[in-house]
Order: sequence, then structure tokens, then C-alpha cells
Amino acid sequence: MSMTQPEILVRGTCPVCAADVVPAARPEESELLPCPECRTMLVVDGTAGGRVVLSEAPRIEEDWGE
Ligand SMILES: [Zn+2]
Repeated sequence: MSMTQPEILVRGTCPVCAADVVPAARPEESELLPCPECRTMLVVDGTAGGRVVLSEAPRIEEDWGE
């Protein structure tokens, strides 16, 4: 008897626009995921109850030489 393990799709909710964010692969902590709706960069805080906990990633201040 072969047991095929179903792909566990963990998903999270964008804290900015409340869209469903479904990572392509199993997300790892501190991984960055862009929200497909508002394109905010989100960072994976971890997983809780089979869901990904996402928070807005801190903006990286790049030196654009203003
Ligand atoms: Zn969003």
C-alpha cells in the first residue's frame, strides 16, 4: 500500500490587503514573499495552526544617492 503524501499547502494572509498568499514551496522562517495583490514584501514569521504568519517586511533603505 503506497501512501501518497498530499502536498500540504500552507497559506497566509497579507497583513496589508488581506489577500491569500500561497507560497510556491513550503515557506521557511524569515523567507520573503511578495503579496500577489498589493506587491508588498512580506516576511514569514513562522507557521501557526497550519497557516503562515506573515508580516510586512521592513523596507530596505537603499542608497539611491539622493
Ligand atoms: Zn497584499
